[in-house]
Amino acid sequence: MTAIEAAQHTGSGSAALEGSSETFLARSGSADTSTDRTQLRPRALRCKLCGAGFAAAPTAICEECLGPLEAIDADVSTLPTRAEISRRAHSIWRYKEWLPFDGEPTLSLDTGFTPLVEAPRIARRLGVARCWIKNDSVSHPSLSFKDRVVASAINAARAFGLDTIGCASTGNLANAVAAQAARAGMESWIFIPDSLERGKVAATQIFGPHLVRVRGNYDDVNRLCSIVADQFGWGIVNVNLRAYYGEGSKTIAFEIVEQLGWTLPTAVVAPMAGGSLISKLERGFREFTEAGLVSGPAPRLYGAQASGCSPIVQMVHDGRDEVRPVVPNTIARSIAIGNPADGRFARKAITQTGGWAAAVSDTELIEGIKILAADTGIFTETAGGATVASALALSREGRFTADDEVVLCITGNGLKTLEPIVETLVDSPVIDAKLREVRALVNAA
Ligand SMILES: *Cc1c(COP(=O)(O)O)cnc(C)c1O
Ligand SMILES: [Zn+2]
Repeated sequence: MTAIEAAQHTGSGSAALEGSSETFLARSGSADTSTDRTQLRPRALRCKLCGAGFAAAPTAICEECLGPLEAIDADVSTLPTRAEISRRAHSIWRYKEWLPFDGEPTLSLDTGFTPLVEAPRIARRLGVARCWIKNDSVSHPSLSFKDRVVASAINAARAFGLDTIGCASTGNLANAVAAQAARAGMESWIFIPDSLERGKVAATQIFGPHLVRVRGNYDDVNRLCSIVADQFGWGIVNVNLRAYYGEGSKTIAFEIVEQLGWTLPTAVVAPMAGGSLISKLERGFREFTEAGLVSGPAPRLYGAQASGCSPIVQMVHDGRDEVRPVVPNTIARSIAIGNPADGRFARKAITQTGGWAAAVSDTELIEGIKILAADTGIFTETAGGATVASALALSREGRFTADDEVVLCITGNGLKTLEPIVETLVDSPVIDAKLREVRALVNAA
């Protein structure tokens, strides 16, 4: 079934909002599914700008005002308690009531629940009481936080009857889509800028997707994919499945709260590309507070970018609501989005929580990678280096206080972006297999 057929199948349009998922099941062909309450049903959609409602469908743009669509919330009476959550398996699905589905997911059930690691030496550098690293550099299966958003989107694709998924990617999303599509037995069509790091390309190709390298930057790739989604009826996770994709990011906030013993940090620093992650962090902390699972002031959210591509940081600094697109020029390719789709929502999340934003040079972000490695034993990619370096820059600006409890979101793995790092490392000695040679090195060290 194509995306468009699936949309018609679900009865797209505001009139079909009520009971839309039942309509989908009743028409989906197999006997008994209309009464099977465990089958996964994507939730209906609502426009973030004008509030118009639509049936669940692989579409992310409002027919009324062309605004972005998001999935409607769960019925509050069905939300689980802390005790119920803590008995569930360690994955993003332990928070399934806050993900955009009813019923049970069937794919990518083991993504999420990455370590939250205390980092006292980083805390000292920042001049704060405590600091933790939320370590999505070891996310399962593809070593970045994009596993979370793809785990959510791929379940939507399956529920809509789509057999091909795809994405426009700066690298990590390509890895996550290729890996999760492969194991689900789905086809994937993946579009990336032609100049990505070799590690990101290889860690996509290994899964056997249709990988297309587009001459240009991410913004060119993304424009192409907006048309592609409608032409071939695929589920492009960050285009027509975007409403189901973005919600996966909230699980970082949920995990932070639970891993801190059901308390809120006072500040969170996160990298920004399209601006989705940081705006979903705000929503995640808010939803857990509204559900009564945690109380206290919302964490101040701080956004990090590379100065070679910092359109959202500029919006925060100028107090401006519109994105002014830029042409990216930075080694931090995974966050090099010159025209961020969620720029306004990112800025809103930052300003409404009392946070701020910082951009750092490529030299500073490489230093950030090295500081994190030396202080915590975690090897992050360029985006993580930008996060650490931005946190240090924000600290120098006096944005943190001595009693702050800060979480740094480390979203990707350093083994995927070796190119800029290897240039800065000195060659290690080569010796013959002789004790004498080791002794000489130890004496000289
Ligand atoms: C995609 C990505 C982000 C941020 O993405 P948003 O588009 O802002 O949600 C951050 N870090 C890494 C490593 C990424 O790949
Ligand atoms: Zn609208």
